[in-house]
Amino acid sequence: MDFINRPRYIPMNRRRRIYEGKAKILYEGPEPGTLIQHFKDDATAFNAKKHEIIDGKGVLNNRISEYVFTHLNNMGIPTHFIKRLNMREQLIREVEIIPLEVVVRNVAAGSLSSRLGIEEGTQLPRSIIEFYFKNDALNDPMVSEEHITAFGWATPQEIDDIMALAIRVNDFLAGLFLGVGIKLVDFKMECGRLWEGDLMRIVVADEISPDNCRLWDLSTGDRLDKDRFRKDMGGLLESYQEVARRLGILNEEGPTRPGGPTLVK
Ligand code: UDP
Repeated sequence: MDFINRPRYIPMNRRRRIYEGKAKILYEGPEPGTLIQHFKDDATAFNAKKHEIIDGKGVLNNRISEYVFTHLNNMGIPTHFIKRLNMREQLIREVEIIPLEVVVRNVAAGSLSSRLGIEEGTQLPRSIIEFYFKNDALNDPMVSEEHITAFGWATPQEIDDIMALAIRVNDFLAGLFLGVGIKLVDFKMECGRLWEGDLMRIVVADEISPDNCRLWDLSTGDRLDKDRFRKDMGGLLESYQEVARRLGILNEEGPTRPGGPTLVK
């Protein structure tokens, strides 16, 4: 093939890198208004004070997050997700990330248990939404709606939209995981502003995977999430594989096309 007619190929290391976080990299996308979200194998905890590479984690999170976001889109819950491109990458819409971590809790665990002295595993009287300011230098402090509106991170209307999204995502995820024998204890999500001309709407962004959920096996109580890494329990990859397998994303032989979840009786 002569040089002039060769198809244009942009090697991965020459794509423009927009942002690199602890577990993901964002590259410029093929069209304006799109980005490529690349899942790395890095596992971090305690604001990156603990760090390890876990071979294959990025591939699993890419698949699990694809599964969740595809269902959210299909249910009319708006997200930034367009499609998965390959083992580690997905095409997403470029959004203006709201600098908040939105945590939804159904069962007491982690920082809620330590802060308020509520025993891990206690069912909460209702789902609780918390906001944390995304700022590594400050260790992501918990903030109230007062802080969010006073400092202009989001408007009161946007907070209402975010809370409505969070409740819908929680209901969907709790049901999805319950159907495969997993209790959704809590999870973290992020939101962004998606601009379509002059219109703006709040959409779910980032990822939803065992890296940012607490998932407990319904019958044994086994941790199937990043707490395995935080608490040095080992077996993180096997747990993420188990989550993917139960959702019907992986079978014993390895990745398949996304199918349906496996009902656990
Ligand atoms: N979480 C997260 N990123 C963070 C902090 C928390 O994804 O930077 C998730 C975490 O995996 C859990 C939920 O948010 O599912 C609630 O976490 P918690 O506040 O209990 O903090 P942790 O105990 O994880 O420090």
